[in-house]
Amino acid sequence: MGSGASREKEQIGPTGIKDVHLSHALTEKYMGLSQHGKVQAEYVWIDSDYWDGHSFDLCCKTLTLPDAPISLDDIPIWTYSGDDAKDIVIVPRRTYRDPFRGGDNVLVLADTYEEPSGDEQDHGKATKFNARAACQAAMQQAEEIGEDPWFGFEQEYYLIDPKTKWPLGWPAGRYPDKDTAFYCSVGSTKVVAREIIEAHYRACLYAGVMIGGINSEVAPAQWEFQVGPASGTQGADDLWMARYILQRLCEEYKVGVTFDPKPVPKQAGIGCHTNYSNMATRSSPGGMEAIKKQCERLRQAHDKHISNYGIGNERRLTGKHDTAAMSDFSWGIGDRAASIRMGCKVAMRDCGYYEDRRPAANMDPYLVSQLLVETTLLRKES
Ligand code: ADP
Ligand code: MN
Ligand code: MN
Ligand code: MN
Ligand code: MN
Repeated sequence: MGSGASREKEQIGPTGIKDVHLSHALTEKYMGLSQHGKVQAEYVWIDSDYWDGHSFDLCCKTLTLPDAPISLDDIPIWTYSGDDAKDIVIVPRRTYRDPFRGGDNVLVLADTYEEPSGDEQDHGKATKFNARAACQAAMQQAEEIGEDPWFGFEQEYYLIDPKTKWPLGWPAGRYPDKDTAFYCSVGSTKVVAREIIEAHYRACLYAGVMIGGINSEVAPAQWEFQVGPASGTQGADDLWMARYILQRLCEEYKVGVTFDPKPVPKQAGIGCHTNYSNMATRSSPGGMEAIKKQCERLRQAHDKHISNYGIGNERRLTGKHDTAAMSDFSWGIGDRAASIRMGCKVAMRDCGYYEDRRPAANMDPYLVSQLLVETTLLRKES
């Protein structure tokens, strides 16, 4: 029972459930019914209880609201039961239009707290999976010193065949033609599942996620979308919501998605380059000088950053495939083999943003944003 071979024959997927196909047409019939002014609020939060480094542990559940919310205050604080039978408090932080249900329905990005221990107003301590609270605090401090940090993320991912766990469209256990260029490619011999990418792009625009663009990556079934530039925690919030939307779509298309930093041996890994700027780097003259100064601070804090930039990143940051080796820190203009890259235009204009190329695809953007701000803006000169 439950052996690999019998699973294969029965077509059972990696989590032990079988593929079930239902009728979309039948569902449509009911989704057309009026909801009579009531609004469905889908709360989305991060729970890393079951974090395995490959995927994210996003959770969601729905609450009916009496009418369309005007502000966050119209969306109640809610709870769910954590793993040790204790209630976890989920606090709404940002709302988006719901691309799955449409209409006035909303997606609600929330963060999590332990149950309050007395004062009803207070919602307890942030849970250990809530990196947003500390990120928000760092952004607040940056604001107090007159800075306005902006973030832009380049989220890479692989679409996966749920049965073989190998990239979608690849022959099982084998590699596609290594001499073909798949980056930004066009055509049925090179592109896998563009429908999902198009649906995701449009769903993000509809939701109000600041999606900046998409491109196919260096292997078939490897894709990238960009989020931002957005100020403070909004970049990280929007990236998490874009990840959620992607997971939901892949659920519908019955396709897997992975953010593991190196899902396929011997191929380029996947990252989440984090583009970053602040008042000092965006001001001319002197922006380039500020960038160099910040890079020196980042050099000092390299190990701390690396240890928070994603599980399994050592398999990706090898010094090959446009990465810098994990043990080294370097920066360079137009250099894709450096830890930090500034675009040539930034150097020419003497201001702008720079790209931290170290974060893995499975990083938490709250942690990465927080660390960038703390290291470059909040740390005392040592
Ligand atoms: P690459 O050449 O590295 O593939 P992309 O075009 O994929 O670059 O991504 C560029 C990223 O830079 C986008 O995520 C965008 O939001 C971000 N970005 C642009 N301007 C800024 C800025 N001023 N501050 C922070 N991020 C920025
Ligand atoms: Mn129950
Ligand atoms: Mn890119
Ligand atoms: Mn890329
Ligand atoms: Mn990049």
